[in-house]
Amino acid sequence: MQDTYRHRGMRRRLVEGLRKRGIKDEKVLEAIGTLPRHFFLDKAFEDHAYLDKAFPIGNDQTISQPYTVAYMTELLEVEKRHKTLEVGTGSGYQACVLAQLGARVYSIERQKDLYERAKMLLPSMGYPQIRLFYRDGYKGLPEYAPFDRIIVTAGAPYIPEALREQLAVGGVMVIPVGEEEQTMVRVRRIAENLFEEEPLGPFRFVPFVEGLNE
Ligand code: SAH
Repeated sequence: MQDTYRHRGMRRRLVEGLRKRGIKDEKVLEAIGTLPRHFFLDKAFEDHAYLDKAFPIGNDQTISQPYTVAYMTELLEVEKRHKTLEVGTGSGYQACVLAQLGARVYSIERQKDLYERAKMLLPSMGYPQIRLFYRDGYKGLPEYAPFDRIIVTAGAPYIPEALREQLAVGGVMVIPVGEEEQTMVRVRRIAENLFEEEPLGPFRFVPFVEGLNE
């Protein structure tokens, strides 16, 4: 696949739309403006890549809407070198946005097909440093904890205890919480045993499902 002048034009318009919808973090806008989102979709759908919409990526899953990616990434306050855990690799797009911002990214996926696809795609796109794992996100990645940042990209019925434990003191987690519909929640670990939860707007995600899927 190629990134052409036409794609870059569509991407610029997408970024302007995100700005109008209230995304202010210039670094986040720049990352989205840089990353060819059409590489994450089937070639037949490449023009859909620059609409501000979620899109099916197979296995009943979706690549999140660009606005949602931008909003969550902004909330996460990612800085260079931050050790960052993503739960729900999906297409790998969000992981690349985080890497583009200089985060050290660890991403977990429970669907084997999606994990394998991302494993092929991300190095070929120039992100060999993103570490991908075929694991159950409810358990996190204890052997690499603590994480400065944690982002969950599936709708969680509750905040898993393992993810709280794996958040560094001073760290931030962004997670959509709820069954049918979710409330975006930003969690800050203020001290070893003190978490602050900030509920934000309503969203709709595919469900955060416990256990692996072959
Ligand atoms: N961040 C993705 C969006 C993926 S949608 C992107 O940028 O494309 C949410 C993803 O979470 C799906 O791929 C789904 O399979 C995955 N998921 C759901 N439950 C999970 C779990 N317990 N562990 C890991 N991944 C999970």
